Amino acid sequence: MTTQYKNLINGKMVDTGEWLDVVNPATEEVIGQVPACGAAELDEAVAAARTAFNSWKKTSFDERREALGKIAKAISDNAEELYRLLTSEQGKPHEQAKQEIMGASYMVAAQAQLDLDDEIFQDDEKESIRTRRVPVGVVGGIVPWNFPVSMAVQKIVPAMLAGCTIILKPSPFTPITTLRIAELIADAAPPGVVNIITGEDSIGPLITSHPDIDKITFTGSTATGKKIMEGASADLKRITLELGGNDASIVLPDADPKKVAEQLFWSSFMNAGQICIAAKRVYIHEDIYDELSQAIADYAAQVKVGDGSEQGTGVGPIQNKKQYERVLELIEDAKDKGYKFLTGGESDPSGTGYFVPLTILDNPPEDARIVAEEQFGPVMPLMKFSSEEEVIERANNSDYGLAGAVWSADADKAVEIAEKLETGTVWVNQFLKLTPHTPFAGHKQSGFGAEYGKEGLLEFTYPQVIMVNKQNAPA
Ligand code: NAD
Repeated sequence: MTTQYKNLINGKMVDTGEWLDVVNPATEEVIGQVPACGAAELDEAVAAARTAFNSWKKTSFDERREALGKIAKAISDNAEELYRLLTSEQGKPHEQAKQEIMGASYMVAAQAQLDLDDEIFQDDEKESIRTRRVPVGVVGGIVPWNFPVSMAVQKIVPAMLAGCTIILKPSPFTPITTLRIAELIADAAPPGVVNIITGEDSIGPLITSHPDIDKITFTGSTATGKKIMEGASADLKRITLELGGNDASIVLPDADPKKVAEQLFWSSFMNAGQICIAAKRVYIHEDIYDELSQAIADYAAQVKVGDGSEQGTGVGPIQNKKQYERVLELIEDAKDKGYKFLTGGESDPSGTGYFVPLTILDNPPEDARIVAEEQFGPVMPLMKFSSEEEVIERANNSDYGLAGAVWSADADKAVEIAEKLETGTVWVNQFLKLTPHTPFAGHKQSGFGAEYGKEGLLEFTYPQVIMVNKQNAPA
C-alpha cells in the first residue's frame, strides 16, 4: 500500500481524504501520497497561525531558539531516513541528499543564534529614541522542488525567530520529506506556529491573496514571482522573493585547467544543474579554452548519471517531467541550430526516468536559447572570451542577477572583476557557497529582498520607533 503523509495544522497531523501522488523521477513509480488541500484547509491553517501569533510574538528570542534547537536536532537525528526519502522524491544522489539534510539542520541551528537588539539612537536626560523590531504576523511560505528541505527551513527559521507564525507550502512534486519533518517537529513549537499544507499549484495564489496572511516568502521561478508580487499587492503584503538565475562563471587565462576543471564541472552539474545559483554560462579565456574545455569533458566522461539511490551515481534525473521536457527542448533547439557539443546532446525520452545525459556545448553564440535562458538541467555551455571588458559586458547582459564566479590564480584581479558583476553574490575560486550570516539577495529579476543573516531576518519584521520626551510627563 502507498504510504500516505499527512499535513501539519494547529499541531496535529491531518489529511483531507483526497490525495496527490508523488513520483520518483528515476523510476516514475508512485512513492507516496500527500493531502490535496484547498481553500478550506488553508483557512484552517491560517486561523491556527493567527491564534498562535498572539502568544508566539510575546515569546523571548531564547524561547524561540529553544524550539528551533529541537527542529535542528530532529532533522539531524533522523538524517538517514530523511536523505533516503529526499533522494526518492527529488532524484539527487544520496551523498547530495545527505548534504541537503545535514545542511538544513546546520542552517536552523546557526540562524537561530541571530539576534535583533533594539537600536538606541538617543538616550539622555531629555529624550530616548530607539528602534525596535516587531514581527510582521502570519507568513505564507512557498517553495520549489530543487532543494525542498533547505528551502522549507529557510522560510520557517527566520519567521519563527522573528516571532511570526507560518503556513508553508512545499512544491507538489517534492512534499514528502518536508511532511515527514513536519511529523518529527509537530510539538517542537506551540500548535499553530508552524503549519505545513500540501496541494496543487492552485493553492499558491490562494495563499498569496489570503486576507489574513501578512507576508509571503517565496522561492521559485521569476515568472511565478511576478504573479506573487501582483497577488500580494491587493493588501500590500510584505514579500521576499528568491527567483531564477543565469549565473556566469568567468575563467581568467592564468587559471590552471587541471585545477579548475572538476570544480567548474560541479558548479554546473550539482543536483543535475537544478540550482538557482548553478553556473549556467561558463566564459573561458581563449588562451586556455581548448585545454580547459577538454579537461571538463574528460572529467564528465567518468561521472555516472543514474538513479540517486545507486552507489556511484554523481548526477541524478531531472526532478519532474515538465522540466525534463523543457531541458530536452533546449537541447533539441541547440542541435537544430547546429551548435557543437563536446558531450551529450542525445537523449531517449522513451526510457524510464527523467534522465538527461551530461551536455556540454562548445562555444555556442551568446543569443542561443540554451545560453540566454535559464536551463535548470545538466547543461553547460562553454564560451570563449578575449578581453575583460567584453566578458564583463556579456556576463551582465541578463535580466537575472543572482550570483556568479571568477576563477584566477590572482585573487585580487578576480575581485576587481567580481565587483563589476551585477549579481547579489560573487564567488572567487569557489562555488555554490551560502552562509547563514550573510544576505543572499538576487539583483534585477532574480529577487526582491534578502534571505539569510540579519538582513533576511529583518524581512520578517516591521521597524517601530519609540520616542520618549522625558521632560514632558503630564504629571
Ligand atoms: P515555480 O515557480 O513553478 O514553483 C515554485 C512554487 O510556487 C511551487 O510550490 C508551486 O506550487 C508554487 N506556485 C506555482 N504557481 C503559483 C502561483 N501562481 N502563485 C503562488 N504559488 C505558485 O518554480 P519551480 O519550477 O518549482 O522551481 C524552479 C525555479 O525556482 C527556477 O527558476 C529556479 O531558478 C528557482 N529557484 C530559485 C532559488 C533562489 O533562491 N533564488 C532557489 C531555488 C529555485
